Amino acid sequence: MTFDLTPEQDQLRDAVRALGRRYGHGYFVEKAKSGEHTTELWAEAGRLGYLGVNIPTEYGGGGGGITDLAIVCEELAAAGCPLLLLVVSPAIAATVLNRHGTEEQRKRHLPGLADGSQKIVFAITEPEAGSNFHRLGTVARRDGNGWLLSGRKCYISGVDEAGHVLVVARTEDSSTGKLKPALFLVPTDAAGLTRSKLDMEIVSPENQFLLYLDDVRLPADALLGESLDAGLPALFAGLNPERITVAAMGAGTGRYAIERASEYTATRTVWGGRTIGSHQGVSHPLAHAAVQVELARLMIQKAATLYDAGRDLEAGVAGNMAKYAAGEAAALAVDTAVQVLGGAGMTTEYGVATLLGAVRAGRIAPVSREMILNFVAQHVLGQDKSY
Ligand SMILES: Cc1cc2nc3c(=O)[nH]c(=O)nc-3n(C[C@H](O)[C@H](O)[C@H](O)COP(=O)(O)OP(=O)(O)OC[C@H]3O[C@@H](n4cnc5c(N)ncnc54)[C@H](O)[C@@H]3O)c2cc1C
Repeated sequence: MTFDLTPEQDQLRDAVRALGRRYGHGYFVEKAKSGEHTTELWAEAGRLGYLGVNIPTEYGGGGGGITDLAIVCEELAAAGCPLLLLVVSPAIAATVLNRHGTEEQRKRHLPGLADGSQKIVFAITEPEAGSNFHRLGTVARRDGNGWLLSGRKCYISGVDEAGHVLVVARTEDSSTGKLKPALFLVPTDAAGLTRSKLDMEIVSPENQFLLYLDDVRLPADALLGESLDAGLPALFAGLNPERITVAAMGAGTGRYAIERASEYTATRTVWGGRTIGSHQGVSHPLAHAAVQVELARLMIQKAATLYDAGRDLEAGVAGNMAKYAAGEAAALAVDTAVQVLGGAGMTTEYGVATLLGAVRAGRIAPVSREMILNFVAQHVLGQDKSY
């Protein structure tokens, strides 16, 4: 493991930072409040090749790894534009397609994901199953050569911006109770697929939806991969990229908040000539948050390095730890930033309270802190499972 990025990764970091700063948090909030999407930023990032950094060159991508995509996620978030759909589309969907899709599926979908002209979102969560994906109730039944899908999904991000949803369903022959998951590429305009937008207390241009699948009829090639056996490995393939990139987004958000707060406390004076940052009651909480964010970044780098080296099991442990650490650090950093800004912290203008909802959600989704602690307790500490 090295602590240095390659010269190309350094350039990528600088270039993405510059792009993010051109748009900035004001743009992100304005889009959120007007109910619009970050279409211009996404399109420009796609044109510049940042959305496809981890996609193989033969499908129009940059041929890099999750380290590169984590840089994109972190730097856009550090500029005040934490885009959750980076985690969903290029991290989860592109990885799953690339590793387990058929050649035809890769050719059809990856170039559009790489240049940003297409988004594929991901639907696993269900109202009754929650964190327990063994209870998935969305069922895929054979229908001649094709499939019929029925069920309900919740909190699915970005359905209104995507061409397809990668839906995780249970196949009918799993009456044993054992999950035999299968993934399906469902067009967002498929007959029988309806959605309703959830009202979320998160300032974000990206929306969450309830999805209803009512006998959605799909052709045979909507099944991801060559056979039903691709389902479980495909599902697991998405987990590490998801953990690592969402952690990177959290670390970037933490950096953004600490930067805003430090600028403010280094110049604001209310007691004589001293800045409020000279009081340790103000500077220490900020410094503490900065340490937590930096520790999380180290863990993200470790997880991404292990993942890109093909060491999936070790990357699983590191990726979960990175996601936990970054989720906590981001929430701490934003909360601390709001506090040291005083009243200004709660204004839209100073742009930190606008992130409170997002960082709070980052401790719940895409995997909650408790489920990560369960994972660490069982797989690292060898403890029994209680559930
Ligand atoms: C902003 C946002 C975006 C999202 N986007 C998507 C998306 O694009 N696609 C998608 O499929 N899903 C998405 N989700 C859903 C998300 O993955 C789930 O909310 C998350 O996995 C938790 O599931 P749940 O909400 O059903 O909580 P529950 O499973 O009901 O859990 C509730 C609480 O109980 C705790 N808990 C549950 N079981 C245990 C246990 N065994 N031990 C200890 N604690 C436990 C949990 O940690 C949590 O704190 C999104 C959620 C949010 C908030």
